[in-house]
Amino acid sequence: MINVTKTFLPPFEEYTAMLKKAWDKSWITNDGGLLQELERKLTEYLGVKNLLVCSNGTVVLQMALKALNITGEVITTPFSYVATTTAILWENCKPVFVDINSSNLCIDVTKIEAAITDKTQAILATHVYGYPCNIEAIEKIAAKNRLKVIYDGAQAFGTSYKNKSVFNFGDISTCSFHATKIFHTGEGGCIVTSDDKLNDQLQLYRSFGHRGDEYSTMGINAKNSELHAAMGLCNLKYIDEIVQKQKEHWLLYYSLLKNTKLQLLQIDDSTGYNYAYFPVVFPTEAELLKAVSMLNANHIFPRRYFYPSLNTLKYLNYQPCPISESIAHRVLCLPIYYDLTNQEMDLIISVMLSVQNNLL
Ligand SMILES: *Cc1c(COP(=O)(O)O)cnc(C)c1O
Repeated sequence: MINVTKTFLPPFEEYTAMLKKAWDKSWITNDGGLLQELERKLTEYLGVKNLLVCSNGTVVLQMALKALNITGEVITTPFSYVATTTAILWENCKPVFVDINSSNLCIDVTKIEAAITDKTQAILATHVYGYPCNIEAIEKIAAKNRLKVIYDGAQAFGTSYKNKSVFNFGDISTCSFHATKIFHTGEGGCIVTSDDKLNDQLQLYRSFGHRGDEYSTMGINAKNSELHAAMGLCNLKYIDEIVQKQKEHWLLYYSLLKNTKLQLLQIDDSTGYNYAYFPVVFPTEAELLKAVSMLNANHIFPRRYFYPSLNTLKYLNYQPCPISESIAHRVLCLPIYYDLTNQEMDLIISVMLSVQNNLL
């Protein structure tokens, strides 16, 4: 069976050797030594100013909105994982969806200004599939309209824009370290800002809003444990190798599928992509469904991702986003992960090509 992704795991002995450090101290959570070491190493690896390791990639979005005092309308993308939208709702803010552009599948910057009202306070944009959204245009619009910018970089670990980690942009960037992501700690995430004061506030939020006996703000529990940090420290040693392998798989898919009717991601010169996902957009949903059933018949399980378009969630008032809705019905992520073998890729590609040829 080939799934859309498979969690990378370090050699078991490396993980247990790392865990031993926590065992020896009987200290398994609350800003332990391994967590601090992971934070230091990630800060350095990504070249960011402040980075806090947290419990997942959802609570960090909520903390970002809270720390920036966002209480009104948030301009956001309908083409993302559901957590991007529910974080806004959870913070009692209102998501205002702006449709995506059909080339990088990120928020369409030419449509943002029309959605700004006197209640708009922030833009929450996703680096979709780990590919950077139109950062410079977003920052320009935000500066002109005095809006805060949060990037959901849950999928963007390792991606750079103009040779800088994408996490260096916006007021706050977040990432997920969930087991399905390219770099993971099992469950986990991080929050990044270049503003020291904001970082201090976020650090307080992460552990209930207090340091020792000083209770200075409302907070939440967004800490992560030494068991998770140990997984991160082990995985971080392999991250360059993982990205390199993903890149080889990605380029092989690309070279063999580029002359079909499928729309593929185009990587431009300013982007250092992490090659975490290989989305393909079919001309019609019927063709997608046919491909899925043929792949499934061969024990291959791609994922309809992102689907559905978030503006169509039934617990929200519907705001039309025709491009996102159309893409969400036609996009499929093909299996891509470190362990994927050339033989498995040959099978996936031959099924994909046979579906394409039947339809021609
Ligand atoms: C995975 C993901 C999240 C949520 O991260 P968790 O760590 O699972 O909470 C949020 N946004 C996007 C775009 C994601 O892909």
